[in-house]
Parts: sequence; C-alpha cells; structure tokens
Amino acid sequence: MTTFQTPDLFQPRDSRLTVLSFGGGQDSTALLELYINDAGFRERYAPRDFMVVMSDTGDEYPETYSHVEETRLRCLAKGIEFHFLTADMGFHSESWQSLKHFYRTKGTIGSKAYPKTCTDRLKIQPIYRFLEQWLSDRYGVSCNRKKGIREFAATHGKINVMLGIAKGEERRVAAPDTNPNRWYRESILNLYPLIDLGMDRAACQQFISSLGRAVPPPSNCRSCPWLSLEELKYLRRFEPAHLNEWIALEAAKIEKHRHKESVIVTSKSGPQVVNRNYGVFGLDLLPKKIEEATAKFLSWSDEQIKQYRMSHGHCVATAY
Ligand code: SF4
Repeated sequence: MTTFQTPDLFQPRDSRLTVLSFGGGQDSTALLELYINDAGFRERYAPRDFMVVMSDTGDEYPETYSHVEETRLRCLAKGIEFHFLTADMGFHSESWQSLKHFYRTKGTIGSKAYPKTCTDRLKIQPIYRFLEQWLSDRYGVSCNRKKGIREFAATHGKINVMLGIAKGEERRVAAPDTNPNRWYRESILNLYPLIDLGMDRAACQQFISSLGRAVPPPSNCRSCPWLSLEELKYLRRFEPAHLNEWIALEAAKIEKHRHKESVIVTSKSGPQVVNRNYGVFGLDLLPKKIEEATAKFLSWSDEQIKQYRMSHGHCVATAY
C-alpha cells in the first residue's frame, strides 16, 4: 500500500477547513482552478471553509510575483480568501526575512552540499504562524504556540492542507506520523489531490490551458541551490544582475569560511584533510559552473531555455 494517498477520503469531508498552500507555480495553480471549476473536486477536498495562503521567499522570479498578483485578483473575483505573506507582516522570523537576507546577514549560502532548511523557514513556518493567528481571528481559538491550531482541530476536525505535489513527485510526500511536532500530527491532514487524480506537471499545464488561462512558470527561488545547469543558463541570459549578486554572496561566504578549507576528518581509511568550504554547487563555485553551462548550452536559443524552465520545477528535495 502506498503512503502518499490521501489517507481517508471521508476525512476531508468531515473537516471544517481546507487550506490550499499556494506555491505560485503550475501545480498549486491547477489545484486552485480545480477548486474554482469543478464542483466534484470541491465536494471531495474542500466542502466547507476554504482559504489560500502563500509565503513569500523574497526571491521569486518577477513572473511569479505577477502571477501571485493575478491569483489574488482571481480569488477576489471568486470570493475566495487569499493571503500572500510578505516579510513585513510579521510571520517570517528575524533571521529569515528572505532567502538573500539570510545569506547576507549570516555570511552563508545555500548549497547542494548542505541540509535544506529554507523551505521550512521561509514557507512552512510563516504559513503555520499565520494560520494560528487567522484561526484565532476567524474562529475565536487561542493563539499561543500552536495551541490554537490543536484547539481548532479538536473542535472542528483536522485542518486539510492541500499541497501542489504532482503525480511523479511522490518522493516529496512526507509520512504524516514522522513530523516531530505533536500539534502538527494531531491537527493537520495533508491532501495531495494531484497524485490522487493522476495529474502530472504536463496534465496541470494542459488543464490550466484548457480553461483559457495563461500557464505560469514553475515557482522556484532565483537563488535556489537545487537549480540545474539549464536554469543557471537561464539566469545568465535573463537575470544577469541577480546572478551577479548571487556570485558576490557566494564569494563572501567562501572568504569568510576559509578556515574550513583544511578540515581533518577520520574515515575508515584513516584521517585526511578535506575542503569543506562549499559554494552553491559544492566545491565548484558559481563562475565555474556558469562557464560549464555556457559551453554545454551554447547552441540553445532563448526560446529553448525559456521552454526548459517552463517544464521543470526543482524544489525536489522538499518533503511535506
Ligand atoms: S525554491 Fe529552493 S531555495 Fe527556495 S525555498 Fe525551495 S528549496 Fe529553498
């Protein structure tokens, strides 16, 4: 038996509230359009109260910010509550106001070589801080270190949190009972309707197009360490100022952590000196990877690079 399916199709119906965790990309846009256009979908996944929320990483592509604004207006027109949490609203922590703010103030950089905390800090934590405040304002529960979320669930049933993870991305689905937080295990039921419905990224794109609506690009931070060489090429061509800033942040991190270039580690074969001063891609720094990308995709037209980005997301290491 698979662990990623919506656990009990009757449970969503019993719940008072469904929250769509909106990412600003194709998958969660498809979910929103399913909600708007398909009565059967609403009946199955969000039969009662419904709210859409997205947390700003501060580092989205300009096209994503435009799409978020269009989504806000679409929700307004349809009578759907939509919240876009920007850092000035107080739900982001002081250290994680935005991705680049964190890199700059801590003298660090996100790297493929490091464990990933950015999704939790920039998306999940702000959303749940906001959710408790919103539940308190809307339903009168308390607002105190997630007690209000538990209180809501005890009274109205678990909160259905709908996530835009498409078929084919099942590895991003977390087992609900592995969450370390008791309030989460007791109060949240994650729904993955795209997996239930067998919709992969291409199906989401087709569905959005079939409604006569523009398909947004996948949403990723511009400074995401999990980018591909193709996306690096995209940044080089279409976001050069942003890329230069990222290169400078990486260079500052490398300079600050020179002492990590000769670290003694002991393995089965005995002690050895290793370089642990990693940049975005590991030991090969951005300028070198940019050269590699330039050589590899020299013949790609602007159109080819744009098409590649439209068809690939890369927040792949996230499980939630
Ligand atoms: S897109 Fe990348 S950098 Fe942004 S939150 Fe996701 S994993 Fe982190």
